[in-house]
Amino acid sequence: MTTTFDSLGLSQPVLQALDMKGYSEPTPIQAQAIPAVLDGRDLMGIAQTGTGKTAAFMLPAIDRLRAADRQTPFKSCRMLVLAPTRELAGQIAQAAKEYGALAGLKVHSIVGGTSVNKDRNKLHRGTDILVATPGRLIDLIDQRAFRLDGVEILVLDEADQMLDLGFIHALRKISELVPAERQTLFFSATMPKQIKELVGKYCRNPVHVSVTPSATTAERIDQYLFMVQHEEKQALLELILSQRHEVPGKFERVLIFTRTKHGADRVVKKLSQKGIPANAIHGNKSQPQRERALAEFKKAKTPILVATDVAARGIDIPGVSHVINYELPNVPEQYVHRIGRTARAGADGIAIAFCGEDERAYLKDIRKTTDAEFERLPLPENFRAVVEGVGPTKPPPKQQRQRVNPKPKGARPQGDTPQGNRSKRKHPSRKGKPAHAGQGNPGGGNRRGGNRRGGKPGNAPRAAQG
Ligand code: AMP
Repeated sequence: MTTTFDSLGLSQPVLQALDMKGYSEPTPIQAQAIPAVLDGRDLMGIAQTGTGKTAAFMLPAIDRLRAADRQTPFKSCRMLVLAPTRELAGQIAQAAKEYGALAGLKVHSIVGGTSVNKDRNKLHRGTDILVATPGRLIDLIDQRAFRLDGVEILVLDEADQMLDLGFIHALRKISELVPAERQTLFFSATMPKQIKELVGKYCRNPVHVSVTPSATTAERIDQYLFMVQHEEKQALLELILSQRHEVPGKFERVLIFTRTKHGADRVVKKLSQKGIPANAIHGNKSQPQRERALAEFKKAKTPILVATDVAARGIDIPGVSHVINYELPNVPEQYVHRIGRTARAGADGIAIAFCGEDERAYLKDIRKTTDAEFERLPLPENFRAVVEGVGPTKPPPKQQRQRVNPKPKGARPQGDTPQGNRSKRKHPSRKGKPAHAGQGNPGGGNRRGGNRRGGKPGNAPRAAQG
């Protein structure tokens, strides 16, 4: 029997809000977490963004706040949610407003990069739910503009990422300022030793819930691999985005990961030199720049976004058709986070990794840790010539396409082409279709006319329009 939201014990206003959002069934993390949180238990959740974890803590927390029915505390809050990035904080606050709309709770968010004075003013009378990045929260506490003594429920979201960003001191300080009598909900995508210690410090006898990425995300993502020299990656990217080299799937929104901020800027600059518009999102960008890039990506106005891990972490954007790992992450878990940007909330997705000679060790680690099964894609036949700036590309003959890591995967049939059986079975809508841009047309600006590939009729990218 499938679990329903009704059967989890949520109140009518929350159920109504869910109805308005159009969610019919709880996700696994929601089914596991909601009853425990409603029961007042502390929670340790291993889950990444995309699993529905925000609702998993927010829905029952809203009901707990309603049931306790305390006054909004002056210069404090009843529920504090800590998140590592501005984007994630913004998303959580938005979700809190939507889910709590009928419960009459005040929701505010405070993040770095905005006016502290405005934050002081808006929090003067207190709020029911505060979503904050740790740095800004500590600033306000230090200025005596905010206190944590009203906190009934504390949520730490993406705790591992908060540690990666150096928020450990802020977290320790916050743990000393919140009341001992409180409920703590702790979420992390990974469970390194430092996180275990933090859980011990923050939680009392927590209920453990876990949604492992391999069971949720990786299953629904078709993962492909190009072995390509580092200095040739940009050329390959341009060929793919301008649809002169075929990859599986129809482009809607393409999220590209680089390891460094500088690398992200370089990719964007070179793409734009080739007439392929793209935006970068990383820590050196101002808040308005980040918001604009995200908004344009969401609307598919600029459907190519080049990001670093920190900037993209926790971003919830529906409709990411492709994640391209331009550079492989040196931490395997990061690979799971990255590809988790596609295939969200039940959709399928495509991940393409560019692996250079010097990244083989990273690839090995990713395979070992995540059980990832990659289908290797061939480079264009005359790729060298293209890299050197001469001549168009031709598609390689089909027999050259080969599968690497041919680990048997149950009874799942496996094809040997980019649109092999596996893709066909899982993506009937993509059957036989090459990558081509939808209305967004990520690489539209670079098409120089004519079908340069000379592939089978009906199986080639659309010819360029003028
Ligand atoms: P999260 O992991 O909280 O970032 O959520 C990922 C996405 O899933 C968000 O766009 C949510 O709005 C959506 N979502 C959350 N819960 C459900 C649900 N039960 N059914 C469908 N979508 C959901």
